[in-house]
Amino acid sequence: MAHSLVPPLRRESDILPSALSVLESVFGLRGFRGAQEEIVRHVTGGGHCLVLMPTGGGKSLCYQLPALLREGCGIVVSPLIALMRDQVAGLTEAGVRAAVLNSTLSVAEASAVEQQLLAGELDLLYVAPERLLTPRCLALLARAKLALFAIDEAHCVSQWGHDFRPEYIGLSVIAERFPEVPRIALTATADDLTRREIAERLGLADAPRFVASFDRPNIRYEIVEKQNAPRQLEAFVAERHAGDAGIVYCLSRAKVEETASALSRAGIPALPYHAGLPAELRAKNQDRFINEDGVVIVATIAFGMGIDKPDVRFVAHLDLPKSIEAYYQETGRAGRDGKPADAWMAYGLSDIVQQRRMIDESTGSDAFKRVSLAKLDALVGLAETAGCRRARLLGYFGETPHAAACGNCDNCLSPPTLWDGSVVAQKLLSCAYRTGQRFGAAHLIDVLLGHATERVAQFRHDTLSVFGIGKELNEKQWRAVVRQLVALGHLRPDSEAFGALTLTDSSRDVLTGRTAVMLREQAARARRTRRDRARRGAATLPSGAPGPAGSPDLIGRLRAWRSEVARSRGVPAYVVLHDATIDGIAAACPTTLAALREIPGIGDKKLEHYGADLLALVKAADGD
Ligand code: ADP
Ligand code: ZN
Repeated sequence: MAHSLVPPLRRESDILPSALSVLESVFGLRGFRGAQEEIVRHVTGGGHCLVLMPTGGGKSLCYQLPALLREGCGIVVSPLIALMRDQVAGLTEAGVRAAVLNSTLSVAEASAVEQQLLAGELDLLYVAPERLLTPRCLALLARAKLALFAIDEAHCVSQWGHDFRPEYIGLSVIAERFPEVPRIALTATADDLTRREIAERLGLADAPRFVASFDRPNIRYEIVEKQNAPRQLEAFVAERHAGDAGIVYCLSRAKVEETASALSRAGIPALPYHAGLPAELRAKNQDRFINEDGVVIVATIAFGMGIDKPDVRFVAHLDLPKSIEAYYQETGRAGRDGKPADAWMAYGLSDIVQQRRMIDESTGSDAFKRVSLAKLDALVGLAETAGCRRARLLGYFGETPHAAACGNCDNCLSPPTLWDGSVVAQKLLSCAYRTGQRFGAAHLIDVLLGHATERVAQFRHDTLSVFGIGKELNEKQWRAVVRQLVALGHLRPDSEAFGALTLTDSSRDVLTGRTAVMLREQAARARRTRRDRARRGAATLPSGAPGPAGSPDLIGRLRAWRSEVARSRGVPAYVVLHDATIDGIAAACPTTLAALREIPGIGDKKLEHYGADLLALVKAADGD
């Protein structure tokens, strides 16, 4: 049986030096990032805490290191089996004694893990929440020596949140039964309400909160007007992400299937993922996405939580998510490795109408519906803003951004022109009013443009004063006006009446001219993006971007070797080596083990297992 990698801590002042030494020898990393150091010190010293850090921020180390440094085993509660499996594979690679306890184990396997735990032979044990709550498991934990409890994806306890999992509610038992064992709750998405709920349910009301910046500087945000979404997506992937791994989110299974086939027909390797697929096929597609290079997965929103793949280069939304939290969490799956990545979304008015209808038709309470509508409004505001998207996102999470403009979102890169749309807004609002607030955008636009449609004739709307008064804009421009007025709150799609546009409290001030309405110029934007694309090469990369590039040939050889090793060991490629580590090797071309050991991501075990192979690959590439 493997022995612990770490000698027991004796004194408080030993914590930091020991932590740094384990960080280096086990994980091959040179230093902490942001709040990690403080968190590791606090938890290793026996404290409870709540950690809020964006995806890719480095949450895992916050509990993995203290679990190694403290006596006993760290129990990690995690909602998803795929995540547990990959984390344990990665830890085992690094020489950490880690195991899982979940429903995928046979009775014999589970009992072997239980024995290891009791014998003090585990550093980390990943447990599914429903498993942990069983009397058998609680009794087992009571007999074991425990280093800490880490509750990952802690926002799942929140009933208001977008990922509520009823079994998480039961986790309050941890604080009741094991009050002395440090509890660390972690999440990447939590607004203030959710934070309070986590603290309350997990007994962390008095525990410190470590809140890291939610900024993901390497992600470029872009939200475009939906025209022909499948074609727009195809162009986006083909022009900007050929050969890259990416995730495309759609709302319905049918759309997932259609989109995956359309991409495949266009020569982009794309696989569908949704709850309607047979379990094996779903698992197979997910595995291919994780293990192979350059696969695009098209999925319903259920996909992705617990997917740890660090080299996802883009996340595309073809449908509007429910909230900024959901958007942020989903887009956050891009670029965990810190290298440049895109978050791209195409959206239109029908998306807003559809989401509103889903909220109205849900079985939730009125309070739930109100909260949901407010969350949707905030997201629509983000989509329609003319300002910096990042500043808006960070502001939503209560953070003041360093700069008003980030320089790495569509609005910063090609600022939309604003024009005074007060008069057209008044025309649209009067049109909605005079037609009885019973019609959707299409009909109102017909009336404004003076189209003699059947409907217009049926309701005699050609006799109204607003008939034909909007010819200064075309249909597409009118649609943009409608969307922006909805986003600004001057017009509301009534989901019960199939998207009929109704006036709001603020409409009157627009109609009387007391409120001016500034609108975004759509056409200007489409023209500029092309120019921007040409400029992209020269654009400054955010921090965290790679340094000098290594030879593509060596990178290719290293990747091929990695695929081979991953296949033979049955683990994802990134568990063997991260892209960033491969790039580091290719850039530095180390010729000795000592030099190889300097590359971030190469710890003692990786050096021992792969050092000779990697040096041989570098040497072979050099000889050509
Ligand atoms: P999260 O769980 O917060 O999404 P992870 O714990 O998976 O993030 O870490 C994301 C990435 O950042 C991983 O590739 C990890 O190796 C890397 N990372 C974490 N901490 C550090 C650090 N201190 N130095 C360098 N890389 C780090
Ligand atoms: Zn910006």
